[in-house]
Amino acid sequence: MPSTVEGDPLAGWRLAQAPFYRPVAGEVRAFEAAAAARLPVLLTGPTGCGKTRFVEHMAWRLGRPLVTLACHEDLTAGDLAGRWLLDADGTRWQDGPLALAARHGAICYLDELVEARSDALVVIHPLADSRRVLPLERRGELLQAHPDFLLVASYNPGYRGLHKALKPSTRQRFTTLAFGYPDPDTETAIVAGESGVDPLLAGRLVALGLRTRRLQADGLEEGASTRLLVHAARLVQAGLPARAACLQAVAAPLADDPDLQAVLADLVHAAF
Ligand code: ADP
Repeated sequence: MPSTVEGDPLAGWRLAQAPFYRPVAGEVRAFEAAAAARLPVLLTGPTGCGKTRFVEHMAWRLGRPLVTLACHEDLTAGDLAGRWLLDADGTRWQDGPLALAARHGAICYLDELVEARSDALVVIHPLADSRRVLPLERRGELLQAHPDFLLVASYNPGYRGLHKALKPSTRQRFTTLAFGYPDPDTETAIVAGESGVDPLLAGRLVALGLRTRRLQADGLEEGASTRLLVHAARLVQAGLPARAACLQAVAAPLADDPDLQAVLADLVHAAF
């Protein structure tokens, strides 16, 4: 049965304007090579260091629609691949987002792949190797991916305590680009560019971020990400004093533990 979707089925996933992205190392060229070679890409690194923004930028650069899916334990293979729907005219097939991306040549970005259930991972495996197929079992179709289809996933291997890691059978299907926090000059330019604060203040926020990252040795799960520093800068831009902005956007979101909270507050007070 043919898909009933008419027109451009990926219209809603096309990026209208170029997302601001400041390259850090050779990641743009590396991603372009993977896209040309039709190889899946795994972006590893801590939360808030620019992985999602990078994929958005690359989708715009390559002129491909971007289908983003946040993986979680309730996401089933059917949610990804598609399902039969019952309506007044009978039953019709509706491609899931992964099937849409594979059929029409989009970039499919699976955010936090490690959160996906094993049945969802099983579905992506044949798409992520040289077969590039998506079995739509409920429809009796073996969907051959469009040449422009590109599978991208993110993965934060640094989370401690969750005992979660990607299996080698999944991990080895992807080429991997390792992301970290940008160097201070680049991060300062990002914080200033994203918020509009002056580079001097952006630099002081970045210096605070670096100090929080050193607390990882003392039990902090992760230090302040670029995202948190951008949030603090935006609060300042909205009129909040820098100290209050950093307590709200940097210190409070980083830890629930009162001792760590106190240490983070001290760092903020010393910085502003
Ligand atoms: P991740 O996907 O790694 O969790 P994001 O891509 O959402 O993180 O990045 C968080 C925020 O940090 C972005 O919204 C953006 O403001 C900023 N950011 C991080 N790295 C960059 C970069 N290289 N260029 C521009 N903005 C960046």
